[in-house]
Amino acid sequence: MENEQSRVIREQIPRSELREHSSPLYLTSSFIFDSAEQGRAVFAQEEEALVYSRYSNPNTTEFINKVCIMEQAEAGLSFSSGMAAVFSSLAGLVRSGDHIVSSRAVFGSTHQLLTELFPRWGITHTYVDATDKQGWEDAIQENTKVLFVESPSNPGLEVIDLKHLASLKEKHPQLTLIIDNCFATPHLQKPLTFGFDLSLHSATKYMDGQGRVLGGVVVGSQELIDQLTFMLRHTGPALSPFNAWILSKSLDTLSLRMDKHCENALAVANFLEQHKEVEQVRYPFLSSHPQYELAKQQMKAGGGIITMVVKGGFERAKNMIDSLEMIKYTSNLGDSRSIATHPASTTHSKLSQEQRATLGIQEGSIRLSIGLEYVNDIIEDIDRALLKSK
Ligand SMILES: *Cc1c(COP(=O)(O)O)cnc(C)c1O
Repeated sequence: MENEQSRVIREQIPRSELREHSSPLYLTSSFIFDSAEQGRAVFAQEEEALVYSRYSNPNTTEFINKVCIMEQAEAGLSFSSGMAAVFSSLAGLVRSGDHIVSSRAVFGSTHQLLTELFPRWGITHTYVDATDKQGWEDAIQENTKVLFVESPSNPGLEVIDLKHLASLKEKHPQLTLIIDNCFATPHLQKPLTFGFDLSLHSATKYMDGQGRVLGGVVVGSQELIDQLTFMLRHTGPALSPFNAWILSKSLDTLSLRMDKHCENALAVANFLEQHKEVEQVRYPFLSSHPQYELAKQQMKAGGGIITMVVKGGFERAKNMIDSLEMIKYTSNLGDSRSIATHPASTTHSKLSQEQRATLGIQEGSIRLSIGLEYVNDIIEDIDRALLKSK
């Protein structure tokens, strides 16, 4: 079986003697040893066997295997949330005195990790403007161990040149390149094929796709994953088998769902670009996007997130969100239901207006996570809210 979609759907943990068709849920915290001798051999790493669900579980293994197929990765680890994946991936690679170079526009909690938590342990960072090619190179120091990016970024939807960053490793072989690939999903973007070392996800978003469970995953080479395994096993942010079971089943439809998210989002973005109450629209697959050509090279489609700026600024944006009827305001994205958020008054409210501007957030910016509803219903709701909030 060559086809990625077929392989994902057919990937399954070994059937039990009950001959079930669909993978069962293994809600067990531990696994028994056949004998004291087997217990010894497993702990001595002479024999591989399931031991304890903090280490691994059939359901988490199946979920990871499917992500590895899609990302073309050798190995992976699953986590209780996207942030657990971000934290463990970074913390597993750096130590006191090390330095991280990161794109400036990163997920809020990743920003807190870099600016508030890591400095407590003597780990420093430099932020770079995503599209400033020379800036990346200039930021690399002798003690830089990790280069971390999000592309497309949240909520500015900047697209970073992944091949260019991977080429920096020729001069700086000590670097490990990590991408938070959550917005694109492995269906739209495969960063390891561009030379990235680790690709991680908040599985809470498109992988679940229906706003039900939290989860995280990181994939890459066996060698790097082995390094991170120590961190996962002994700090304990393990993914619950139940969540893994949900996520694994959801991955069977990820590519279908993403194609539809992208089709709907492009239609909404085109509609908004013509709208007289809209100042600006950002979507990677609109030809007006500053990195449109790059987005087309490294992504299969533009994704499900649009950032728009309404005329009238802060108050108008809030009014518009309040005027939406079908689309709800909630702190999630990548759901089958469309979602609207206003970064300036919520996720990014603690930043100054200037700081927000560097992240591509204006007072009137609204982030739309376009769902799987009938596209005309999405457009109608947004249009009505735009006119009502005038
Ligand atoms: C949501 C999100 C995270 C954090 O994931 P959780 O599952 O909420 O912990 C990290 N990165 C990006 C880009 C996200 O959207």
